[in-house]
Amino acid sequence: MATLFNYLNVPLLAETDILVIGAGSAGCVAALAAASGKPAYSVMLVERYGFPGGSSTQMLDTFYGFFTPGETPRKIVGGWPDRIVDELDRAGAIFLRPNTYGAGTGVNYNPERLKLVWDQLIQQQGIRYLLHTTLIDVAADGERHACIFWNKGGFQKILARRVIDASGDADFCHLAGLAYEIAGEHEPAQSLTTTFRMSNVELDEYERAGGKKMLARTMQEAVSSGRHPLPRKEGSAHEMNAQKCISTVAVKVAGLSALNADELTKAEIEGRRQAFVYEDFFRDEVPGFAQANIIGLSHQIGVRETRRVYGEHRLTKAECMAGLLPDNRIFLCGAPIEDHRHDQHGTEETYWEYIPGAGVYGVPYGTIVPKNSQTVWVVGRCFSATHDAHASCRSMAQTMSMGQAAGLASVQSLQHDQPASQITISSLQEELLRLGAILDLPDRVADTSRNGWKNNHQSRLASPSIS
Ligand SMILES: Cc1cc2nc3c(=O)[nH]c(=O)nc-3n(C[C@H](O)[C@H](O)[C@H](O)COP(=O)(O)OP(=O)(O)OC[C@H]3O[C@@H](n4cnc5c(N)ncnc54)[C@H](O)[C@@H]3O)c2cc1C
Repeated sequence: MATLFNYLNVPLLAETDILVIGAGSAGCVAALAAASGKPAYSVMLVERYGFPGGSSTQMLDTFYGFFTPGETPRKIVGGWPDRIVDELDRAGAIFLRPNTYGAGTGVNYNPERLKLVWDQLIQQQGIRYLLHTTLIDVAADGERHACIFWNKGGFQKILARRVIDASGDADFCHLAGLAYEIAGEHEPAQSLTTTFRMSNVELDEYERAGGKKMLARTMQEAVSSGRHPLPRKEGSAHEMNAQKCISTVAVKVAGLSALNADELTKAEIEGRRQAFVYEDFFRDEVPGFAQANIIGLSHQIGVRETRRVYGEHRLTKAECMAGLLPDNRIFLCGAPIEDHRHDQHGTEETYWEYIPGAGVYGVPYGTIVPKNSQTVWVVGRCFSATHDAHASCRSMAQTMSMGQAAGLASVQSLQHDQPASQITISSLQEELLRLGAILDLPDRVADTSRNGWKNNHQSRLASPSIS
């Protein structure tokens, strides 16, 4: 483990049993699960931005992956991820997005409310929580990790017995010299997307004019006529948890790396440019949008994949498509491969491939344990998977599930003084089930009507959403 710093001279900020780096969907749940484990260990959660949630609050408003897609959806994720939705539900801040094409029924939420929910749960669980603080280097301090952070107070060090890397880009693993693949190394990386939100949309008018089907047709026509140079002809626009507002996943910026600051700068500029190309298109061509305008761009451009760590197990497309339920599974996934890459499969548009059979597979524990590390876990979009498998297993119900498993595993590893790769899987699974996680496909078909979540009392338009 090389370090730029003489870490001994860096002021000590904190010592903790479990350190979670990055407060995205995976990191927040990892910290919550670790803090709810028994016995109690000290847990610290550090985030580079001034708010929690990562992509869940920076740019998105829909959790996918709770339900399998198709006509007979099953609910396949539970535990802490449910609790997050329950809190949003209690505040009247969710509705279920109908099961159209795509990843199945989505749980649409108010992302600003979600920031509050993460903040409150993190504090309630007694987690030491530090925002505006970025990991920049790593060294070994005996059996502990010396993690060097930078914030406005300067360089500071946190000593941790266990680390969960939830930075999305596997920053800790990179700095610690653990092995990973960089997206784009073997096949084109998934593209980057600036999301944007528009207000003053007449949703009834949009729906009466044909909704989703009409939008797809209008996009095709706008591009082929040369009127609007849209980068994608299949972008989505869906109703938000706010009156007369829609949110989009439409922009497409390909061929630039989110790990290179020059390229990322170009990507941010291009993403914003494209967003306003779409604004013109919507206003000029789409019924219901004549008076609409952009009211918000994502906090940063959306990054689907960068580093994918090599773990004790590497999830492959073959395993996903075979619908394997391995004995050492820690959560389930039913989302299709949804690959937003540029030039593969003979299409410029998104490539979809669904899980056959029961439409679900189990994800092995080894996918969150980096190879050659004994006290580290890696969760979220940088977990151990091939490009194709990752393109299926990256929805937020799954990233939260990874966090849940890693949080509990870190507690178990401390309690029994076991290396990460050798904890007793059956005990971890018992703990997961105790929290409410789901490890077997339920028989019961889930109620995915708009009011299908427990307390959700909102009544919304019939089906203006597309995904
Ligand atoms: C455009 C786009 C649309 C998507 N649409 C959906 C969707 O509709 N529904 C869905 O379920 N999934 C969707 N996904 C996938 C999903 O959003 C991601 O896979 C998931 O959010 C990743 O969560 P994460 O916690 O691993 O990473 P992130 O959400 O990226 O969180 C990582 C966190 O770590 C912090 N961090 C990074 N580096 C450091 C550091 N060095 N020090 C401290 N903190 C650090 C970051 O600021 C961030 O808060 C989409 C993804 C993209 C890009």
